[in-house]
Amino acid sequence: MTTNLPRRALLAAGAMLAAPAPLRAQAAMRLVVIGGGFGGASAASFARRAHPDVQVTLVEPQPRFVTCPYGNLLLGGERQIGQITHSYDGLRARGVTVVQDRAAGIDAVAKTVRLAGGQTLAYDRLILSPGIALRWGAIEGYDQAAADIMPHAWVPADGAQTLLLRRQLEAMPDGGVVGIAIPPNPFRCPPGPYERISMIAHYLSRHKPRSKILALDAKEAFSKQGLFQDGWAALYPGMIEWVPGNRDGKVVKVDVRERVLETEFGTRHKVDVANVIAPQSAAALAIDAGLANDTGWVPVNARTFEARAAAGIHVIGDANIPGPMPKSGFIANTTSKQAVAAAVALHRGQPVPEPVYFNTCYSHVGQDYGISVVNIFRPNADGTAIAEVPNSGGVSPRGNLPDQRRAEALHADAWYDSITRSMFG
Ligand SMILES: Cc1cc2nc3c(=O)[nH]c(=O)nc-3n(C[C@H](O)[C@H](O)[C@H](O)COP(=O)(O)OP(=O)(O)OC[C@H]3O[C@@H](n4cnc5c(N)ncnc54)[C@H](O)[C@@H]3O)c2cc1C
Repeated sequence: MTTNLPRRALLAAGAMLAAPAPLRAQAAMRLVVIGGGFGGASAASFARRAHPDVQVTLVEPQPRFVTCPYGNLLLGGERQIGQITHSYDGLRARGVTVVQDRAAGIDAVAKTVRLAGGQTLAYDRLILSPGIALRWGAIEGYDQAAADIMPHAWVPADGAQTLLLRRQLEAMPDGGVVGIAIPPNPFRCPPGPYERISMIAHYLSRHKPRSKILALDAKEAFSKQGLFQDGWAALYPGMIEWVPGNRDGKVVKVDVRERVLETEFGTRHKVDVANVIAPQSAAALAIDAGLANDTGWVPVNARTFEARAAAGIHVIGDANIPGPMPKSGFIANTTSKQAVAAAVALHRGQPVPEPVYFNTCYSHVGQDYGISVVNIFRPNADGTAIAEVPNSGGVSPRGNLPDQRRAEALHADAWYDSITRSMFG
C-alpha cells in the first residue's frame, strides 16, 4: 500500500471491499467521488449533509486544494497562496473518507475504481469530477516542459503554475511585454482569461507602468466583453492590446527559447513573459475510461449527469458537455447537488428530483471593481438538452458606476468565502 491513508480511512475502504454480496444489499449505499475540486468536494460535502446514511469516499491525489478562482488575484498581488488553499480536514470532520491517491482506472461493469496506490474501491454509484487536461501539442511546441517556461496557470494542482507566473511578472523589467494566448471555446472559465488580463494590468499599472499586455485570442468575442473593455479603458489606458482571431490573434506555435508566440498567419510576437492558456479537454481519467466523445468532453444526461457511455457514473464539473452552461466552479457546485440527488434516487429506485441550475460568474477588473453575469438553466424532460430559462439572468450594467463596481467586488469576495466554506467546511 503506497497511499497516505489514515488508519480509519483504510479500515473504511477495506470494509467496503470485504463486504459479502448478500450483506452489501442491506448495507449503506457506497458513493465514491473522484476529484476533490469544485465538483467533487461539493458533491462529497453535500452528500454527507443531505444523506447522512450514505457512505461517501473522496479520492484526490493532492493533500490540499488550490482554487483557480482568485488565482488571478494572486497574480494581481491581491491574494497570497495560503488564502486560496483549502484543507480536506473539514470534509473528514463531516464523515467523508478522504483517500489521498490518484484514480488510475474505472471498471463500469464491476463498479470498481482502481487507485494508483494499488487499492480497489467498490461503489454503488460513482461521481466523477476530475476537471480538465491541457491538450499538449495542440499549440506546436507547447508541451509539459514548455509550461515550465511559459506557464499556463490554468490547472491549479499545488499552485506551482500560478506562483511561477507571478514570479515571472515580478522579475520582468518595467516596459516589458506580457503575452497571453487565449484558447477557442469550449474551455474552463470563459471570463477567466479576461479577469487575468485585468489583474495583471492592475499589478503592472502600480509597479511597472510602462509595460504592455498583448492578449492573443483564438476567438472574436468573449464573456462580459463590453464591461471588461470599459474597465480596461478606464483603469489601464493604453496598456492592453486584445487581438481577436479574425485579426490574426490565434496562437498556433510557441518558441520557448526565444519566448515567441506565433499566430496563424505567421506573425511572431516576442514577449518577456508568456502565459499560454492552451486548448483543453476533459481530464485523462474520463477519456481513458471511454466516457468522452470525439470532442474530448463527456456527454451526460442533463437531469442525472450520468455519462451517456456508462450507467452508474455521474460526470460533473468541467469534464462534461454542459450545453450552454459555462465551465465554472459555480456550475460544478450547483450541478453536484443534482448529481448526488440523482445518484441516490436512482440507487433507491426513486424518481429523480426536478432540477434547476444557477450560475453567477464574478470577475475582478481592478481594485474595488467587480462585474458579473448570471444565468439560470433547465434541462428538458429526458435530459437530452439544457436551455437557459427565457428572460432569466443578465450582466452588470455598463457605465460609470463606481458604487455598483465596489459592491460587486464585495459580492465576489463573499461568493468565494461561501462556496469554499460549503465545499470544505
Ligand atoms: C484562472 C481561473 C479563474 C476562475 N475563476 C472562477 C470564478 O471566479 N468563478 C467560477 O465559478 N469559476 C471559476 N473558474 C473555473 C473553475 O475553477 C472550474 O470551473 C472548476 O474548478 C471546475 O471544477 P471541477 O471539479 O470540474 O475541476 P477542479 O476544480 O479542477 O477539480 C478537479 C480535481 O480532480 C482531481 N483529479 C484529476 N484527476 C484525478 C484522478 N485521476 N484521480 C483523482 N483525482 C483526480 C484534481 O487533482 C482536482 O483536484 C476559474 C478558472 C480559472 C482557471
